[in-house]
Amino acid sequence: MKVLVIGAGIGGLALARALLADDHDVTVFERAPALRVSGAALTLWSNGTGVLADLGVSLAGVGAPIDLLEQRGWDGRVLMRIDVSRAADAYGLPHIALPRRRLIERLADELPTGTVLFDKACVRVAQHADGVRVDFADGTTATGDLLVGADGHRSVVRDHLWGADPTRPSGWVTWQGLSRVDIDVASSRRGLMIVGPEGMCGLMPAGEGLLQWWFDVRRRPDAAPVTDPLAALRDTFAHWASPVPDTLAAVAEGEVEFFAHYRHKVPRTWGRGRATVLGDAAHTMPPTMAQGANQALDDAWVLARALRRTADRDPALAIPRALAEYERSRSPRAALTARRAGPETTNKYLPTLFRLMPDPLISRYYTRWLRQVSAYLSDRPTPPRSRPTRTPAPAPAPGGTNA
Ligand SMILES: Cc1cc2nc3c(=O)[nH]c(=O)nc-3n(C[C@H](O)[C@H](O)[C@H](O)COP(=O)(O)OP(=O)(O)OC[C@H]3O[C@@H](n4cnc5c(N)ncnc54)[C@H](O)[C@@H]3O)c2cc1C
Repeated sequence: MKVLVIGAGIGGLALARALLADDHDVTVFERAPALRVSGAALTLWSNGTGVLADLGVSLAGVGAPIDLLEQRGWDGRVLMRIDVSRAADAYGLPHIALPRRRLIERLADELPTGTVLFDKACVRVAQHADGVRVDFADGTTATGDLLVGADGHRSVVRDHLWGADPTRPSGWVTWQGLSRVDIDVASSRRGLMIVGPEGMCGLMPAGEGLLQWWFDVRRRPDAAPVTDPLAALRDTFAHWASPVPDTLAAVAEGEVEFFAHYRHKVPRTWGRGRATVLGDAAHTMPPTMAQGANQALDDAWVLARALRRTADRDPALAIPRALAEYERSRSPRAALTARRAGPETTNKYLPTLFRLMPDPLISRYYTRWLRQVSAYLSDRPTPPRSRPTRTPAPAPAPGGTNA
């Protein structure tokens, strides 16, 4: 089958790998002149690392394993600990935080030359009885049997299929970066989420001695730009307990990136005829549950599996059937994830009910939740692998500070 994929982000590249392994003829069309490797770091949970292992994408030597998530108040008090290593052990699959560029490199590694075409901005798509056609900004066109829009949260393909852009600002924005910061979190297996009246500070080791840091703040995305965001952050968060001011002191001017959060209700139907969407194009959500990339990987895994069943069948009938199967599996899971991420709960003090829950119960809940949002973890035929050998997570610093 000839498959046209729009967008060479995490979802598009993962889908290309999966489809090539099944001997489909795949071309990925990317608007940018090269792979987009910006975007600080992200965390792949067992659902994401499982899909990557299945696609033969090795994460050896990159990133940092994550065993523990700790929520603190701005004054340094520990509010909650989630032992996420329970989920990693239950599924036999680690959680890894890594620079986005490393994931993109590993996904693109070993793709045959010519699989990804650059400077190809999709501007229009059309379907006819025998296939799909894509028009590009440079005046060229491409035709194929199936079109997949993996073109992110401003998706042209989604707007064609859904009629409009459904995304709305959540009211929060992020300033983030990936920096060398000499605090113990940077070399640990522990992520911190620190909440206070001014917003939320997240700190996560990302391997290579790098710390992923981010500040989520309430703000309209169309508010006047902040001319010196680093100075504004240092000023706003100066009175927070260590390691927040220490982190901001170590960050360099050019390391700060900005992005606004968007969300929408994830619909049941994603595609039509021979075209569908995948990743952020199907389910844009704030990054608060750290699941966007993981959900995109799950999409790619499920879509490739559904298309496998179309082999040797009439594409006019088999493709819409495969796309319907893909949506049935993925839309409820992505919708559940988006409903959790949308209200940005992790940016705030947890509701009392959560705070009263013992940490082991929350860790068990988290393990179950990961399976609920992942077709890979729910459907994979083999039982969980044996418990991996890990060095124990370092104990949290006494008094809940990193200083
Ligand atoms: C700060 C931040 C932190 C995050 N942290 C996490 C995390 O910890 N864990 C996690 O799972 N997720 C995280 N996410 C979310 C994750 O990055 C996204 O969900 C994921 O990148 C979506 O992948 P995608 O392939 O759908 O889209 P993208 O990665 O956005 O890729 C879309 C691609 O399509 C291209 N494109 C767009 N329009 C066109 C066009 N018209 N024609 C051709 N090409 C086009 C773009 O150039 C881009 O290369 C985070 C996101 C942010 C912003």
